[in-house]
Amino acid sequence: MTKKFRVGILGATGMVGQRFIQLLENHPQFEITALAASDRSQGKSFKEACTWRLPGAMPAFVKSMMVHAPQPPLDCELIFSSLPGEIARESEGAFANAGFPVISNSSAFRMDDDVPLLIPEVNHEHLALLDVQRKHRGGQQGFIVTNPNCSTIMLALALAPLQTKFGVSSVVATTMQALSGAGYPGVASLAISDNVLPFIQGEEEKIEQETLKILGTFKDAGIKAAPMAVSAQCHRVNVSDGHLAAVGVKLLRPATLDEVHDAFASFTALPQELQLHSAPDPPIIVREELDRPQPRLDRDAGNGMSVTIGRLQPDNVLDYRFVTLSHNTIRGAAGAAILNAELLIATGKLI
Ligand code: NAP
Repeated sequence: MTKKFRVGILGATGMVGQRFIQLLENHPQFEITALAASDRSQGKSFKEACTWRLPGAMPAFVKSMMVHAPQPPLDCELIFSSLPGEIARESEGAFANAGFPVISNSSAFRMDDDVPLLIPEVNHEHLALLDVQRKHRGGQQGFIVTNPNCSTIMLALALAPLQTKFGVSSVVATTMQALSGAGYPGVASLAISDNVLPFIQGEEEKIEQETLKILGTFKDAGIKAAPMAVSAQCHRVNVSDGHLAAVGVKLLRPATLDEVHDAFASFTALPQELQLHSAPDPPIIVREELDRPQPRLDRDAGNGMSVTIGRLQPDNVLDYRFVTLSHNTIRGAAGAAILNAELLIATGKLI
């Protein structure tokens, strides 16, 4: 029988924490043995501490589990973290120092020079940073691997095949982001009803910076940022789940519309080759209909792990434009972290 890793979830009561619990309920390689959240929840059973906000019932196995402080030690071998960025740095750092592998959703460590910002289909070679991280952090026994911001993931996944085949020189992305991306309770209903909010704190900078790191190359014990310009404008829209972005790209080498279409549609990578449990196949779905992708219709593609691209056409200012969409709490958060952990197992970095 395959070994099941005993995992702890930090931020277990939140929007992403609940997704972790849902996605891990019947996972063949992980079992949840510890839960942690704020002092509001600590010392309570999960059932008492958490209002379940996903479709379906709270999984029975977590109901009586006790919620702990997000500090080591916890009764587990591996940490999945969905803590708010402000407190993640101290907590995740403490777990890594105490010998735990930490697979994080939070922004706290994403841009650290020695921390992989991982999308298994795009930059698995960045895992070489883990050796650098150990050296930098004084022989720390654990390690930290992060996944990108929820909008950055779908953008970087869409750009990866274009960068490989044609090179990308510039990108202009305009996002329309779902309410669940702000956690619970998130945006006030009176602010978002009949409205679009043209500002999400820190989001544009995250997309612009993280994309360059993800698409960069591992060289001389660090990541050399991808040599492209990325511009992002972010909007909160009245959609429950599923982030969408309208994207324009300028390529380095000429490509026909068919070649760009084929680059997306034929894209496949290491997670698909290794048949990782959460790897969507295909990772990118190209829709031909004029009115797709749409959040409500396409966010669950590939069990929420595929990115859907549509509206691909030549652009009068840049070379091509398209719309990309993915599920923000699955491919953009918990599912991404779980896929990262599956890759760590498959590549012998979690034993
Ligand atoms: P959320 O719904 O607000 O949940 C936050 C979680 O963190 C809750 O479990 C909360 O516990 C816990 N927490 C809050 N303050 C704490 C403290 N001082 N000490 C310990 N635990 C604390 O937020 P979320 O949407 O799940 O997001 C969690 C993280 O994932 C954030 O870093 C976010 O940026 C990132 N992320 C979110 C998405 C998304 O689509 N939502 C996507 C990608 C990344 P209590 O219930 O006890 O307060």
